[in-house]
Amino acid sequence: MSSPPSLAARIRETGFSCLHCGSCCRETEPGSNLVMVGPEEISKIMEYTDLSFEEIVEPYPDRIVEDCLDYTFGWVIRRTGDRCRFLDGTTCQVYPVRPWICRTYPFMLDENGLTIHPCEGTGGENGSRDAENIALDLCRRYAYEQEQDEKIRAIVRSGIIPAGKPVIIDAEGIKDYHG
Ligand code: SF4
Repeated sequence: MSSPPSLAARIRETGFSCLHCGSCCRETEPGSNLVMVGPEEISKIMEYTDLSFEEIVEPYPDRIVEDCLDYTFGWVIRRTGDRCRFLDGTTCQVYPVRPWICRTYPFMLDENGLTIHPCEGTGGENGSRDAENIALDLCRRYAYEQEQDEKIRAIVRSGIIPAGKPVIIDAEGIKDYHG
């Protein structure tokens, strides 16, 4: 995996400054603003907003239905129409506790390296968040996602997914789907 200094160099070279346009929080093509979140990220938003778990997230929409099993992996922030439920005009109402995906957009790191999503904020001057901070957050996000994925894989491998009812599998376990 790329090191933080080499990621920072790539980010600096790309040039990025958030324009606070809110475009990444709106659906510009199907599923473009699906924000996947893990249990810890949801807890932080619950604490910050006093909203309930169900008011903040819904199950990831792509379900896997096979044999007698019906399940999906994890949660996404609820949306109102084509917008994230926390987008107010062009302002994020949960900015201090925004999820990793939002914190690191338009950059994404996976086992294949750095991906840069199309974004109006790229290609110019670097903004107030310096490239080193973004690179560190990308590495933290990658570690968090790896940890979540490993926990979920362990649950799937254990073969304890109940048959005959829809469930959600996240890093904490198996949860009932309530619609
Ligand atoms: S949580 Fe905030 S930054 Fe993330 S998509 Fe929603 S409004 Fe945008």
